Amino acid sequence: MILSSSALAEGNSPLFSSSAIGFQQINSLKVNMSNTSEIVDQQQTTNVSVAIVGGGLAGMSAAWELFNAGIRSLVVLEGNDYVGGRTFNRVHSKINYLEMGGTWVGATQTAVLELAQQFGIQTKDGKVDGPTMYGYQNTWTVIERLPDEHSSLAQQDFAQISAKFELLSQTVSVEAPWTTPNAIELDHITAGDWIAQNTTTAEARTWIESRIRHRIAGNLNQVSLLFLLYFIRTRDTGFYSFQWDETAYRLIGGTHTITLKIAERLGDRVRLNNRVRRITDYHSDGVCLTTDQGIIHAKYVIVAMMPKDAGKIHFNPPLPEHHQALIDGWQQTSWIKFYTIYPRPLWWGKVESGHFYCMEPQIEVFDASPLDGSHGLLIGFFDPKYSYLDETERRSLAMEALSKIFIAEAAHPDEYVEIDYNKQAWTGGCVAALPPGLLTQSGHALREPVGRIYWAGTERSMRWMNYMDGAVRSGQYAAQQILSRMTLT
Ligand SMILES: Cc1cc2nc3c(=O)[nH]c(=O)nc-3n(C[C@H](O)[C@H](O)[C@H](O)COP(=O)(O)OP(=O)(O)OC[C@H]3O[C@@H](n4cnc5c(N)ncnc54)[C@H](O)[C@@H]3O)c2cc1C
Repeated sequence: MILSSSALAEGNSPLFSSSAIGFQQINSLKVNMSNTSEIVDQQQTTNVSVAIVGGGLAGMSAAWELFNAGIRSLVVLEGNDYVGGRTFNRVHSKINYLEMGGTWVGATQTAVLELAQQFGIQTKDGKVDGPTMYGYQNTWTVIERLPDEHSSLAQQDFAQISAKFELLSQTVSVEAPWTTPNAIELDHITAGDWIAQNTTTAEARTWIESRIRHRIAGNLNQVSLLFLLYFIRTRDTGFYSFQWDETAYRLIGGTHTITLKIAERLGDRVRLNNRVRRITDYHSDGVCLTTDQGIIHAKYVIVAMMPKDAGKIHFNPPLPEHHQALIDGWQQTSWIKFYTIYPRPLWWGKVESGHFYCMEPQIEVFDASPLDGSHGLLIGFFDPKYSYLDETERRSLAMEALSKIFIAEAAHPDEYVEIDYNKQAWTGGCVAALPPGLLTQSGHALREPVGRIYWAGTERSMRWMNYMDGAVRSGQYAAQQILSRMTLT
């Protein structure tokens, strides 16, 4: 099976708001069965050592880790008609490609950087010029510097609450956040309530909430404070460096290239359009998976996806209480990503920065134009609350905001492209968070296997959870868990 980047990136899945190019090319790709002796007949029964459910970065990293450890008898079962999950390219005739999911890589996100390096994928500078500008009632402010005598009350307020976050997050254990001192107390207050209690100005409250909301998407009045502190801790660079450490680099060719390259190496072990509907008998000497293309018998299975997405699979026997509670309880909402494309970066030399948090409407915007200025490119994110609007309405909102943030001409791009993960059937979100109480009650089940089922997906990572790096680490971790068990048996 040839999984060329262009073929896989050209699709017109329900995710895309425009483009008439279909996936016929990919759908017509038939799995070549000749190279994998374990795979007998895709419509009937397949026997493998390890079945991986989900061909996102987590699942493909798990498969690659196992493959490199000598496990050839494996299969990746992906429900979509492309690998990559929340990282995939859309081919663009003028600017080559648009990354429709994960885009930036931080300097300390070494797992994803090393994986990219293995495949010769080069990085380029991802940083945006100028300080981050925060809007509030039509005024733009820089708040990420330590306050001095000229700072406003709101800037000082922002600095003090950021410092509190930093201090508190240092007390959280990344391996076992439920053992943090005062864990129960921290887990039973919402991040929103805690922020309200620890700020004195509405501006600082708005700024901090918008900065956090972008990373975890959830409504902070429904997110556990302990979860938020744990999330900050898994970033391992703390709170102050919230931006720069996560936008240091971009990958040349797009982040999708990683999973495409792995898929090329794995060949017919990757099966697209192959949703797993049921996972049964996982306590016996093997696991049975019912998929759209037949039955798989595996010694072990890795479920590699958002916990909430795993809830769409039927498990028999039912999962233990705490595992099921995690699947049911993870929130899953999504910022809506959009691009605007211009003949050149019209705003260069006219605005102070290339990174803005706009509060009305609530969007975050990055200038992603290439250094040579050969075209202008903005990447924006709408708050999930705008999901109820249709694309035309959101586009108008974006144009209004861009003309305020940049220059009037920014409201007239050559093209507007958007993607709403809230509308996607098999990856129902962008990043995720936990409500109060769940981390202390069921957190211990995050990475705990159930019989022969192992878990991956960025949400289960001990480092850089919710990021691509976390996805890679979670996949590698699950693969290592299985390899250790294989050694013992
Ligand atoms: C718009 C957006 C922007 C982002 N920006 C960044 C960024 O700049 N930097 C960063 O580090 N991270 C970013 N992220 C987050 C990053 O993309 C994710 O953390 C990462 O890609 C998650 O990978 P994963 O493998 O854990 O999950 P996924 O990518 O969700 O993979 C899960 C896979 O499982 C498949 N699946 C689900 N159910 C089934 C089933 N029953 N049977 C078979 N297959 C199934 C899905 O189709 C999917 O392919 C962004 C995410 C989004 C959506």
